[in-house]
Amino acid sequence: MEVILGEIATAMASEADRGRVADFIPELARVDPKLFGIAVALPTGQTITSGDARVPFSIQSISKVFTLAMGLGRLGDELWMRVGREPSGLAFNSILQLEQEGGRPRNPFVNAGAIVVTDAILAANQPRELLAELLRFVRAAAGDDDIHINKRVAKSEANNAHRNWALAHMLKARNNLRNDPHRVLGAYFHQCAIEMNCVQLACAGRFLIGAPETALISVENVRHINALMMTCGHYDGSGEFACRVGLPGKSGVGGGILVVVPGRASVAIWSPGLNDQGNSALGTTAAERLARHMGWTVFS
Ligand code: GLU
Repeated sequence: MEVILGEIATAMASEADRGRVADFIPELARVDPKLFGIAVALPTGQTITSGDARVPFSIQSISKVFTLAMGLGRLGDELWMRVGREPSGLAFNSILQLEQEGGRPRNPFVNAGAIVVTDAILAANQPRELLAELLRFVRAAAGDDDIHINKRVAKSEANNAHRNWALAHMLKARNNLRNDPHRVLGAYFHQCAIEMNCVQLACAGRFLIGAPETALISVENVRHINALMMTCGHYDGSGEFACRVGLPGKSGVGGGILVVVPGRASVAIWSPGLNDQGNSALGTTAAERLARHMGWTVFS
């Protein structure tokens, strides 16, 4: 596996078309588009890496996987009263569908759905209490306490996230937000601003492999989260990712992708340049190459 990861990293280093680094969060626009990292974590805890696998990056929407795990753990099926389980076919920050469908977001991975999940797990607590609990969960999953929130990134998003403010106010107007939009988005911007490197993220994703030695949540919830990663994890690029990679994955606009190989491995890939759907351009190519080489797919 070391050889194939090395080959992928070398091939990605010479790619000219690297996508576009997100600039709607100004702090993210400063990241060097030439960086590329990949890490594979096995259920045993062994990790295999290549490239910039130890450089921290902003996990952004990959955080939605962890908050969903917490939400399902706490509320169970009740969560689905407030958020759906269908692909949206629209951009991650789209407002259109939310208005048309009465304020129940399509799924927990589009921004509107993730904001509802954050509101649900925030309940009556202070945002800082929720964030401390989220960090405890992520650190325990990764087996690494050196995982933190980059407050500059959170602030940078808060000052520029006009669409997320619109979504939160729409949710409130439609009675699908218990807390004040400021409290919920305060927590949401900070969860998105968690920084991890590929090794930490791959290790943190092991609870989704479904192997007994990495279990952290119920088998049922592992299945549901993987199903949602497959159908909704790459927004309006989810079908394309499913065809090219054939594995559940969740992207973030920081350029990270968490890929789950059920029963076998958890993979984290990072390349900051994004495609038109807001998913890592080279990250997707690298995931496709790795899956093909290893014969990893859930479809055959
Ligand atoms: N913090 C970003 C937002 O809410 C996350 C989007 C993403 O990573 O896809 O717009």
